[in-house]
Amino acid sequence: MKRICIKIGSNVLTLNNGQIDKQRIKNIVFQISKLQKLGYQCILVSSGAIAAGRSKIKLDQKTDTISARQVWSSVGQVELLNIYSKFLNEHNLKCAQVLVSKEDFRTREHYLNMKNCISSLLSNDVLPIINENDAVSVTALMFTDNDELSGLIASMMDCKALYLLSNINGIYTGNPDDPETKLLRTINGDINRLKQYITTKKSNFGRGGMLTKCSIAGRIAKSGIPVHIANGSKNNIVLDLISDTVNVYHTEFVASKKASTVKQWLAGSDGFEKAMVIINQGAEEALNSNNATSLLPIGVIDIKGNFEKGDIVKIINTEGKVLGLGKTSYNKSKAEVHIGKSGARPLVHYDYLFLY
Ligand code: GLU
Repeated sequence: MKRICIKIGSNVLTLNNGQIDKQRIKNIVFQISKLQKLGYQCILVSSGAIAAGRSKIKLDQKTDTISARQVWSSVGQVELLNIYSKFLNEHNLKCAQVLVSKEDFRTREHYLNMKNCISSLLSNDVLPIINENDAVSVTALMFTDNDELSGLIASMMDCKALYLLSNINGIYTGNPDDPETKLLRTINGDINRLKQYITTKKSNFGRGGMLTKCSIAGRIAKSGIPVHIANGSKNNIVLDLISDTVNVYHTEFVASKKASTVKQWLAGSDGFEKAMVIINQGAEEALNSNNATSLLPIGVIDIKGNFEKGDIVKIINTEGKVLGLGKTSYNKSKAEVHIGKSGARPLVHYDYLFLY
């Protein structure tokens, strides 16, 4: 089975008057039914709950912003899933609602539970439709947006590709209305150069911005999964991309060599770290060499924050540059005994290390 993850942004699913675009959902469902016949197993990450709720419920004036989001998302999620379910029924397909929060990705146990749920749905021919649990995910506990969530899901489920559908064709070198502007068709490796092109303008309905989309796409591609940013407002866009990736007008983040599933998990775990581990220049050079090097306590200068064995830590150099993420082999108290000393076991073994 070729497993893929498709993420649809709120702007694709919403009409100008704020109502949910049922025809768009109908086409997405049609594409999924075709893809399944072609032997693809699909995972859908769908936004649109807040937009659906907003057009259904007029709130009491006293409702504050956080409560408004909670009411709209919980009301809208029912509406949204009903629409999906109705169209899927026409193709004899079933769907399940999976609502997740950032906490679910923080520990390996939670992560594996979630993975097991989605795997079981897929093996029972049920389409998982995933969204953030916006009713309880508030402020610091939220994902940056559903692009981040879909990247985590694609890594977790070991997808063959991730499709990020928004209402533009891909990543442009400037304002898409400017005749000089070009669409970047492929992005290979370094995404830092993209920063010069990207505006921080966000869409009206979703939370995502192009900058976060690019950094997530870059990271997921680096972990071995190709990411396609394409225009979800075009009918049959995923089918077109699957039959002729090269000629469809969109942006592909080309995948690097496939990383292990643990490294893929780490690749998507930025923001889930429990502590920062500051390392010296020698350790940085060793990690950046092409040899499979683990992080030894001798190269550690300082630790900020607390961690237990198995927690994720962010590895940074003395200038504060983030070098990567790792899963620790022991806790902070044990690590502190060995800081700067030789002879101890690696704090982060190479197999549990993801470098940017
Ligand atoms: N989870 C939000 C919704 O369903 C959207 C978040 C996003 O725009 O990325 O409305």
